[in-house]
Amino acid sequence: MKLSRFLILNTSLLLIIFGFVSPNEESLNNSGVIEKRVEELLKNMTLEEKVGQMTQITIATVSKTMGTVDQENEIDYEKLEEAITKYHVGSILNVFDVAITVDRWHEIIKSIQNIAVNKTRLGIPIIYGIDAVHGATYTLGSTIFPQAINMAATWNRELLEKEGEITSKQVRACGISWNFYPVLDIGRQPLWPRLWETYGEDVYLATQLGKSYIYGAQGDDIGEHDKLATCLKHWVGYSYPLNGRDRTPAWISENTLREYFLPTFEAGIKSGSPTVMVNSSELNGIPMHSNYHLLTEVLKNELKFDGFVVSDWEDIKRLFYRDRIATNPKEAVKIAVMAGVDMSMVPTDYSFYTYLLELVNDGEVPVSRIDDAVSRILSVKMKLGLFEEPMPIDNYTAEFNNDSYDSINYEAAVESIILTKNENNFLPLSGKNKILVTGPTANLLSSMNGGWTFTWQGNEERIYPESENTVLEAIEKSAGKENVKYFPGSTFNQLVDVDKLKDAAEGTNLIIACLGEPAYCEGNGNINDLTLDTAQLKLVDKLSQLGKPIILIMLEGRPRLINSIVDKAKSILIGFLPGLKGGDAIADIIFGKANPSGKLPLTYPKFPSGFMCYDFKPLEAFDIGGYNPQWEFGYGLSYSAYEYSDLKIDKTEFNSNENLVVTVNIKNTGNRKGKESVQLYVHDLFGSVSRPMKQLKGFDKIELIPGETKKVTFTIEPEQLSFIGRDGKRITEPGDFEIYIDSLKASFKLL
Ligand code: BGC
Repeated sequence: MKLSRFLILNTSLLLIIFGFVSPNEESLNNSGVIEKRVEELLKNMTLEEKVGQMTQITIATVSKTMGTVDQENEIDYEKLEEAITKYHVGSILNVFDVAITVDRWHEIIKSIQNIAVNKTRLGIPIIYGIDAVHGATYTLGSTIFPQAINMAATWNRELLEKEGEITSKQVRACGISWNFYPVLDIGRQPLWPRLWETYGEDVYLATQLGKSYIYGAQGDDIGEHDKLATCLKHWVGYSYPLNGRDRTPAWISENTLREYFLPTFEAGIKSGSPTVMVNSSELNGIPMHSNYHLLTEVLKNELKFDGFVVSDWEDIKRLFYRDRIATNPKEAVKIAVMAGVDMSMVPTDYSFYTYLLELVNDGEVPVSRIDDAVSRILSVKMKLGLFEEPMPIDNYTAEFNNDSYDSINYEAAVESIILTKNENNFLPLSGKNKILVTGPTANLLSSMNGGWTFTWQGNEERIYPESENTVLEAIEKSAGKENVKYFPGSTFNQLVDVDKLKDAAEGTNLIIACLGEPAYCEGNGNINDLTLDTAQLKLVDKLSQLGKPIILIMLEGRPRLINSIVDKAKSILIGFLPGLKGGDAIADIIFGKANPSGKLPLTYPKFPSGFMCYDFKPLEAFDIGGYNPQWEFGYGLSYSAYEYSDLKIDKTEFNSNENLVVTVNIKNTGNRKGKESVQLYVHDLFGSVSRPMKQLKGFDKIELIPGETKKVTFTIEPEQLSFIGRDGKRITEPGDFEIYIDSLKASFKLL
């Protein structure tokens, strides 16, 4: 945060906010100064003003009309003023429910901040929150990146950092300073409809990529005009529902929670993320919004999280009307606040405000808990520089777009697509081809983008930019329109005119079938069966009877099972949700303009049950013939070939106060430039609790020209060999370990 902006503030306000503290440029970043400012401000606040700060409403609550693709949302200024001046709300969220222009954002944010800053006694600015989960998703004209599961498939830390950086620039340019992202849940339940919002099944990969994203988004100072506050979600254990449906119970022992689900959040907190959103569901029978142990004892005390905790959508009320652990809505407020929730995403009324006031006045919630929550919230607002600069910066919008963003986005899309089958190097295509493009995802941008894209569900095809290409359009551009025929063949769940398929394919020599899922978000994506819809499988069956080679493109938010059609295809590209540049990226891979380098960030299962992650336990494979998915975690082909050699470790025995240095050579033996994700796995041979057969402990993405060899170095710290012991504490045990890189192996002993 720069002093110049600090000076813009009017002086009477400064006196109230800063009391006796006179900040200078150096000290503004200093947490001691912010603490003092918060303390002074808190002293001047009434209980009503404090409880208001803990209240978050959705913009729809203060709107006259709902925003839709055809209708602009209209703010009800009277209601807005009432929310801020009468109920003192501290935060507003979201957009109702369709993306708007930067200018419209400016109007909205300015009118909100104008009331907050100029029409309230203390002038405390509003913190506005949004789900900008793969770019500034609620702003027209923004850079819409691949979804998280794709970003994870790039295995490229730099791209994650860039995504964070560009998203922050574009969101902050709108005047919004809080992003409900990244999702640091670990995606180990393939049925879960929010799987695509995660960085996949592995703790190390997700931790590394999450850290890179946060650094890109926040830099070293969230008060900078192009940075914002990230929000780690959803604390904790949300992503592992037993039945696979969204917001349903998870059963995870605390040891397992600490081993698999907590480390990403711990890393996010260490990276400076100042807010955390609570898991909307329940864990081991305890709704997370009521879990004092995990919210206060673990998150705030043990992990020393000093930011604020926001509830998820309406989840405090749900403690009463859904979970029935509170006998009335007021008790629900008491339980959640006492468990450690600092801000309630109420979000459509002022019930939280009213009940909490009563609870404090009745002595049921101590003022100290309120002061703690409000201090946390005010401190984030101050770190964001909102007191100095609550308004969007007009001339900053010029930076909203930049040609380089599109090419970074394209690069991310290319690197996120995984070639899982390529019989006899069928791809890339060469020569003249007459192509039949078919399948339900061939001509949709929404299927490449998924939820949280321009709308919550992401399925309003009409609002997607015409300038971007669907897979069909991109193929037409590359191959020439005259060489491409399009025949839908099926919707997502129904065959269409398949009796005409033969005629449609007449004159073509190959088929590109685009399958997968429509866009969806949260519970709307619940399914009962991971297998791809029968209609789409049948379509491929029918296509295979035409006797022409088939390329399969999968556009989907989770790994839908395609075991029965894999053999019918020459080549398969798993595209997941590659974003707005997905069509171009897929076409360029098919025609060889781009070399695929994506690697699976999760295990692609083969069967509808018996899911196993790659880091399975000995017992999981003991009697059943091992890990045998459709495609393994970390797998992905390239048009180049890479030869691994000279795996070396600098010592075969090392002490817990030393590091182990591992080197390996990788040579591009193919005839194309390509990128390779070098993956280092460790196997702890014996342990006091059962140890996984292998675990990712290092990765590096490198680029090699044909014939080039590069040496990659990894440093293994003893801490990376640690695990959660029987007593629930993290331990590092001496013993024998193996390292695997590709098919090479080395052994060492930790003393
Ligand atoms: C989702 C969160 C999201 C929030 C605000 C909830 O339904 O679970 O991930 O941040 O809505 O839009």
